[in-house]
Amino acid sequence: MKSMDKIREAARDPYGYAESYKTRTHKKVVGYFCSYAPEEIIWAAGALPLRIFSRKSGIHLADRHLQSYCCSLVRGVLEDALSGTLKFLDGVVFPHTCDSIQRLSDIWRLNVPYGFHIDVVLPVKLNTDSARAYMIDVFRAFRTDLEKKLDVRITDDALKASMGLYNELRSLLGQIYEMRAQNPEIISGSDVYSIMKAAMIMDRREMLTLLNEGVLELKQKKSAGAAAGRKRVILSGGICDFPDVYPMIEEAGGAVVWDDLCMGTRTFAGDFATKADPVEAIAGRYLDRIVCPAKHSGLTNRADHLVKIVRERDAQGVIILLLKFCDPHAFDYPHLKNTLEKEGIPNLLLEVEDQLPPDGQLRTRFEAFLEML
Ligand code: SF4
Ligand code: SF4
Repeated sequence: MKSMDKIREAARDPYGYAESYKTRTHKKVVGYFCSYAPEEIIWAAGALPLRIFSRKSGIHLADRHLQSYCCSLVRGVLEDALSGTLKFLDGVVFPHTCDSIQRLSDIWRLNVPYGFHIDVVLPVKLNTDSARAYMIDVFRAFRTDLEKKLDVRITDDALKASMGLYNELRSLLGQIYEMRAQNPEIISGSDVYSIMKAAMIMDRREMLTLLNEGVLELKQKKSAGAAAGRKRVILSGGICDFPDVYPMIEEAGGAVVWDDLCMGTRTFAGDFATKADPVEAIAGRYLDRIVCPAKHSGLTNRADHLVKIVRERDAQGVIILLLKFCDPHAFDYPHLKNTLEKEGIPNLLLEVEDQLPPDGQLRTRFEAFLEML
């Protein structure tokens, strides 16, 4: 894809992209954590929503506030905040999801002297009428808070336009996933990884143009190159900012045909509710989308969803990536594993950190698993 150069560059250096965007456009940049942040509202306020990814090494300042058994994502992000690397942000939005992000929010409020700070205190249980009503209220309060902090009015029309843009973007991301599932040779896993990451970083209009071009190119080469007998696998697990493991899987003879990841399908899954009030419509998507284990929506729905995508995508196995010290996903794992075993679906657990171990270790594990399929 010709459009990939810009996308790869933004994914490689998100903060560099955001700083130059700010200089170029004089617009505000609002950082956010977690796929539960209603970024459509941030975009409707005229600001760039920037998903915050952590630095990968050299964590010193954050160790004064967070124990070493916190996940490397929150420790790395706090390091960036305390060292001033994130000084270009006009503010940060913390949706309340896992404990680590909630504690990060408290530490940030007390110790980071720049930019505004908004907590979005979401319900934990999402599948009840009261949770629905509460979530809508929380999103309404967020709209008002953001208006005050950015000194703008967020109109219904702006929210609807933002929803329209996100619908287009998510549809294109879904199309790329579908085409890859049909023929994994069509695009490398690393490029899909960069696309998903850039969709949370880049000017969403610019991203839309690049994705439109990219999808057109992929459609043209759709029939070129048959799938080379690769083992079809699903990636699941809890890496909020996971390292690019795709080349290793591909070199070991596998192809990731779908995923259940925060930086993957959760980014484009789910439709806006059909409601006249745009805030209700936006809240509907976050309530009805497949949950991550930091939320609750039925005891078995995550495992059921995983089995469903394995069957739908004709996958032969599941690779579960677990970020070290990520407790919500660690608690989720035994049930996922039991369900996969009951269904006879081979699975592999890999505990990783932001920094991948030496190449050989992971490659050997991927090879051993894929050979078994
Ligand atoms: S895995 Fe869950 S809690 Fe963690 S960032 Fe993603 S959506 Fe949020
Ligand atoms: S990796 Fe796990 S513990 Fe860390 S921020 Fe994401 S969901 Fe929370």
